[in-house]
Amino acid sequence: MHYDVLIIGGGSAGSVLASRFSENPDCQVALLEAGIWPTDPDIANPAMWPLIQGRDYDWQFATVPQSGTANRVHPWPRGRVMGGSSCLHAMAHVRGHQEDFAAWAKATGDEHWSWQGLLPWFIKSERFSQGASAVHGDAGPLDVWLPDEEVHPLVKSYMQAGLNQGAPWLGDHNGGLLCGVAANSLTIRDGKRVSAADAWLTPARERPNLHILLNTDVEKLLIDQQRISGVVCNRDGVTQTLRASTVILAAGALASPALLMRSGIGSASELAALGIACHIPLEQVGKNLHDHLLAAGNVWLARQPIAPTRLQHSESLMYLNAADIRQTAAQPDIVLGCVCAPSVADSFPTPQPGSTYTLLCGVTRPTSRGQIRLTGAHSRDNLLIDPAYLQTEYDRQTFLNALKIARQIGNDAALSPWREKEWLPGAEIQDDAALSDFIARAVITHHHPVGTCQMGKTAEDSVVDNRLRIHGLDNGYVVDASVIPSITSGPVHAALLAIAESFAGRF
Ligand code: FAD
Repeated sequence: MHYDVLIIGGGSAGSVLASRFSENPDCQVALLEAGIWPTDPDIANPAMWPLIQGRDYDWQFATVPQSGTANRVHPWPRGRVMGGSSCLHAMAHVRGHQEDFAAWAKATGDEHWSWQGLLPWFIKSERFSQGASAVHGDAGPLDVWLPDEEVHPLVKSYMQAGLNQGAPWLGDHNGGLLCGVAANSLTIRDGKRVSAADAWLTPARERPNLHILLNTDVEKLLIDQQRISGVVCNRDGVTQTLRASTVILAAGALASPALLMRSGIGSASELAALGIACHIPLEQVGKNLHDHLLAAGNVWLARQPIAPTRLQHSESLMYLNAADIRQTAAQPDIVLGCVCAPSVADSFPTPQPGSTYTLLCGVTRPTSRGQIRLTGAHSRDNLLIDPAYLQTEYDRQTFLNALKIARQIGNDAALSPWREKEWLPGAEIQDDAALSDFIARAVITHHHPVGTCQMGKTAEDSVVDNRLRIHGLDNGYVVDASVIPSITSGPVHAALLAIAESFAGRF
């Protein structure tokens, strides 16, 4: 069969794309997903999110050892299931600061990618619990819920501690500004996770023009001059070639650049070293890899037992400017979070449940940039994932600032009913060198890799153009977290959904 649109990957972006393209009954849409529909009931339980990593619907990627983080290898979970990483993620819905998107508009020369340009697509995607407004929608597929009384009492104390220390009240992470105190908006409905597949695909999956191919692992793209003439996939163990007029890669920030490189689209010299014929030289494929890190962190022994979460453990991300935490309008440079459960990096022993709480801290716009490389031409060959964590002085210094502010808030009177004493890094550790050493051992991924097929203006500075079309190809596009040229200040899922909505809307 020949399809009009073929989408590779049924993850967060792929779910939006398949749903929106198949709204036109004349458009034959194929959605190819390496995994299957979720069957594990734990996926729907918000509190289980940290515990479902490593199961058979997780690709279980890992970084190469990171010299900036005490040579540790960082596990990178990614969903291999319909709904992709939205079935594993922590459900925090944070669009970002409006200036984050000004950088995208500058990179592409296209105001579509500004905050104002994307706002209609943010609104279209959501059904906000507080109703519609100038910045919110109440009729979209995705439930976005702003909890109130359900927030854990410990997290409420931490929010009060932030206010006491001078942080402004924000209330809602999704209005364009980000600095201040707010509970997390969550993609939860009636106590259950809402994945991108739940929101966009479930209502669309019976459409006769939507062809969902499960257990289908795309191995490479067939390139003929300036067109993708087909995709070679392994479907239930059988190799097949599928054809389509338009091919959209939505395999995620790791798999999309890998697929391009295996198909001969990438750095000519790197491909030659692997014996892969180069069809389209594009130096930026796999480059510009970056991610948010969190230090886990500033850990406190509790003076009273901490009850389990009713939500997703870390219920209020607090974005601040370290130089003056009273600032309201500027882009934040640091983020804090309060986990009402034991949360420590692999360098430290895990405390008993209910005995500690962790103030997470991190850098909102890291400047370190890494790369994804192939080790061979086959999809079985491992990826070398190098995010180059903490390689810049800016990232290291801003992390120090973040840890100091976390400690300041952790020592506030509002937390005294909960606070026995600081356990990590420990009150005796005060000088910058020792704190930096601690940070290197305490950081973990915030799970937001982006940038490896970045959008931009030219084939020299980017992989896709302002319409997300792959440079040098007439009918090939990338629409997933890899096209994000510079990370948003907060988690990236909300922005990614707006990218996919807007791509389908203006195609
Ligand atoms: P994915 O959703 O990963 O989708 C890619 C899909 O492609 C997958 O289904 C995969 O199986 C499929 N695929 C890959 N290769 C192939 C192939 N060769 N052939 C066929 N199919 C293929 N973001 C937030 O905003 N808030 C959070 O709280 C948050 N927490 C997170 C916690 C965790 C543990 C994780 C893993 C992520 C978290 N994120 C969060 C990030 C967010 O979930 C991702 O950025 C987002 O889901 C990425 O979407 P995507 O469409 O780019 O890729």
